[in-house]
Amino acid sequence: MKNIRNYKHIIWDWNGTLFDDVELCANIMNKLLEEANLPKISVDEYRDIFTFPVIDYYKALGHDVGKENWEKISHQFISEYEANKYEFTIYSDAEDVLKEIDSFGITQSVLSAYKQEMLDELVAHFNLNKYFIRLVGLDNIYAAGKLDNGLKWIKELGFKKGEVLLVGDTLHDCEVAEAIGADSVLLSLGHQSKDRLRLCKIPMIDSLSELIKN
Ligand SMILES: [Mg+2]
Repeated sequence: MKNIRNYKHIIWDWNGTLFDDVELCANIMNKLLEEANLPKISVDEYRDIFTFPVIDYYKALGHDVGKENWEKISHQFISEYEANKYEFTIYSDAEDVLKEIDSFGITQSVLSAYKQEMLDELVAHFNLNKYFIRLVGLDNIYAAGKLDNGLKWIKELGFKKGEVLLVGDTLHDCEVAEAIGADSVLLSLGHQSKDRLRLCKIPMIDSLSELIKN
């Protein structure tokens, strides 16, 4: 990985990259699985199966993803998530890393598949707004992906290839980075296992602090 000081802008994923919500998501999924009489999963299994678009992950676990049930379980997931999210927090080194990058004169933003209002609220809850020039979320709860928003955002930023680093925790982050011409690095503590992240063949880190170590 290039020294982070060589970048002009950092695009952050939120869930699983700054916000440590893997256990929360696995717990909620187990509740939904139980209600559907489907086998429950461990956190490791969750990390082996979670994917974007999120509907594919529900399908892989055996959920009925016909229109009606998909809408029902999506809403159920979000309401459970919203009710319990404040029991979870950002990674312990997240704010120090954001602060340090900011001190290098590098601007930062968030590009997330989380619904905009919820993203705004949670970032404000952790008092992190001062580090970001923009929070880019989705206008719905279905987490299909963030490629379109990424393409729009990079155009608006106006940076050239190699000037932006995207930090994420899933293969989707890596695909988005490639499509928008950004370098990327994946954190191995998030929503997908190391074995799956390796498929991307890009640098991997085991803690956010590694970003500012060299
Ligand atoms: Mg993520």
